[in-house]
Amino acid sequence: MAIVDETVQTATIRNLIPDWPTEFADRYRELGLWEGKTFSTRLDEWAHLYAARTAVVDGDRRLTYRELAARTVELAHGLRGLGIGAGDAVLLQLPNSAEFIVSWFALQRLGAVPVHTQPGHRHLEVSYLAGATRAAAYITTDEFARFDHRLLAAQVADEVPSMTSVIIAGDLGDHAADDRFHVLGDLYVSGDNDFGATAAPSDIALLLLSGGTTGMPKLIGRTHDDYAYNSRVAGDRSRLDADSVYLAILPIAFNYTWNCPGVLSTFRVGGKVVLAPNQDPATCFELIEAEGVTMTAINPQLAPMWLDEREFTDSDLGSLKIIEIGSARLADYEARRIIDEFDATLQQILGMSEGLFCATHLDDDPELLATTQGVPVSEYDEIRVVDADGNVVPDGEVGELTVRGPYTLRGYFDAPEQTAKAVTEDGFYCTGDLVRRLESGHLIVSGRIKDQINRGGEKIAATEVEGALTEHPDIRSIAILGEPDDTLGERSVAFVVLEDGVDELTRRDLATFTESVGLSAYKAPDVVRVVGEMPLTPLGKMDKNALRKLLG
Ligand code: AMP
Repeated sequence: MAIVDETVQTATIRNLIPDWPTEFADRYRELGLWEGKTFSTRLDEWAHLYAARTAVVDGDRRLTYRELAARTVELAHGLRGLGIGAGDAVLLQLPNSAEFIVSWFALQRLGAVPVHTQPGHRHLEVSYLAGATRAAAYITTDEFARFDHRLLAAQVADEVPSMTSVIIAGDLGDHAADDRFHVLGDLYVSGDNDFGATAAPSDIALLLLSGGTTGMPKLIGRTHDDYAYNSRVAGDRSRLDADSVYLAILPIAFNYTWNCPGVLSTFRVGGKVVLAPNQDPATCFELIEAEGVTMTAINPQLAPMWLDEREFTDSDLGSLKIIEIGSARLADYEARRIIDEFDATLQQILGMSEGLFCATHLDDDPELLATTQGVPVSEYDEIRVVDADGNVVPDGEVGELTVRGPYTLRGYFDAPEQTAKAVTEDGFYCTGDLVRRLESGHLIVSGRIKDQINRGGEKIAATEVEGALTEHPDIRSIAILGEPDDTLGERSVAFVVLEDGVDELTRRDLATFTESVGLSAYKAPDVVRVVGEMPLTPLGKMDKNALRKLLG
């Protein structure tokens, strides 16, 4: 664990992500894209500028900017008391709540790095993340969605020696006697807002997870400078200002909800963030009316539910100006319905935790709003759409989207091999997404070359699930593919060859197995298709293209 003094991260965790080459970094600073401030400094500025304005609404609780800043100082003292300091990674797995926000900024005060762990992540993912980041602590909840996070935390802390503290936003239950366990609410300790220079603006502010295509998700280190720039340009594209009220519906730990534009961009301009307790459209519509919500973000899976609820709702949605939709492809016809049936503007986006964020302009004509996933938010995003040999294709032709820019990673966290596969020598990140670029610069997503399923916005790396399920005693071999689905956009299909003597394998069997090995529930295949043998390529590898032809 880091020694708590004025150490910045530079000597520790920071070295685990590749730097932007000096000429790029200098340019981004000279242009004023990177403003040279940490998020801790920013929060103090916001507290000063927006003082008594409401920053966060979480059920009955409201925090002004000044209160938010003060709470983060208190919690930082408590966390420091546990030995958490500059350069320490801390898993943050909390539902949409004020605690998430306060914890995130308290960690910023200390130069510690929140690892954005998804609420659905279970033992396999969490223990991997803890080990890969050598996490010092785990901040989580007691129970959520009928799952006891304390049991998971105890198990992970037993396995990962660096993890000396488990902090529970709630009740310790059976773990009260475990001296690694602490109640988050007990860690608010008064003290000065003076933690020394715990982080530099070029240090890692947070670690996000990539959807991944191989094995476990990769980690993405985002710096204070680059993430704040992302926040600013994403907010500008949606014209956020002090009157903006952002409703956070999707998990707050998603890059999409947190910063695209999301929570941080709203704080930047002094707006109000409202946290939805769940994704139920009726609940969200009530909150829109009650809090005067002006913008929110959903995924294509929620879009039809919003359309249904729209027909019956008594809630007044008059304040709502923007419905942002992304994280998976929104069907054009669904987009048109949203445009027709809501008074708010549809804003389509294409974004990724690795950086690049595209969004339609609010005043784009309806055809562009309905059929494209937007234009990069920064004029310094360098886009190349390339063919399989890396040659740029003309506008209008389909190719892989690659990008270099002031907020797109130059490499994954502590993963030089993955970096070499994903980032070209001249610094372009290869997204694995197939797009077409129009002359106007708008991008249209037409597919994907990465071995990934986008299940209603949740990304599933096929090889991760295949790896886990090959251990199933009834399975000789398995391949996971995505298939179009009306509700999810895409569902996951498991092609399996059964062991001799086994006649049947159901979806439930696979779900039980994935749960038993500690994989998130959403990764369990939706459909099982038993085949006699796996088609192979001439080189003897599994032929997924042949399997794809068997899909509906
Ligand atoms: P994540 O980093 O989990 O946000 O996932 C990023 C990936 O989500 C992108 O590389 C795309 O594959 C996918 N994605 C995001 N937005 C869209 C969209 N509007 N249409 C299609 N795919 C999308």
